Amino acid sequence: MDAAQMSEGIPVTEQDVTGESGTGRGRTADGPGDADLRRRAAASVQRLTRSVADFPQPGVQFADLTPVFADATGLREVIDALAAAAHGRADLVAGIDARGFLLGSGVALAAGTGVLAVRKQGKLPPPVLSQTYQLEYGKAGLEVPADAIALEGRRVLVVDDVLATGGTVCATVDLLTRAGAEVIGVAVVMELEGLGGRDRLTVPLTSLVAV
Ligand code: AMP
Repeated sequence: MDAAQMSEGIPVTEQDVTGESGTGRGRTADGPGDADLRRRAAASVQRLTRSVADFPQPGVQFADLTPVFADATGLREVIDALAAAAHGRADLVAGIDARGFLLGSGVALAAGTGVLAVRKQGKLPPPVLSQTYQLEYGKAGLEVPADAIALEGRRVLVVDDVLATGGTVCATVDLLTRAGAEVIGVAVVMELEGLGGRDRLTVPLTSLVAV
């Protein structure tokens, strides 16, 4: 890594937050080595994340994690650390459109589950279950198949790259809950602490780094 890449690295503070929810609803037990997995993943995220000011609109500090995913070691470490959040309790991993897809299938393979794509509105054929929500910038909707995948009683770990205001993840949790699933937790690579997403969550949150 050169000095230019270094200066683009986002300043992050590693924290040990596995299993702690915004509402204080309990902690899930760490497995052996989970803290170590998170430490290594956090170091790679710190080193490789590109922070972009005023994208996609003025005032937004965009955390571009794609260089982390493009790095073989970074990707492996992030996948393993997020998969540890399943604690063997999830039987399905839900990745949120679109960067959550990059993580979702890897986490599912590592956790020994299948993967569910939570799609942006209009991408899935009917019938679908829909949920609209507010973004940090704009409004959006998410969908899952209404009857093509049995979600009733499934124990789902939700995965995404960045938790900002929490609108996207909360909409996903609501959507999956309406479909009859039990969301056992949410796992993200990066949490933007100042935007309060954690406080809106009603399920345990794992974030590898907080900025
Ligand atoms: P939110 O619903 O506000 O928590 O936004 C989370 C979703 O929007 C995630 O899918 C992120 O990929 C994306 N996102 C929102 N804000 C940012 C940001 N500042 N940097 C990178 N991604 C973001």
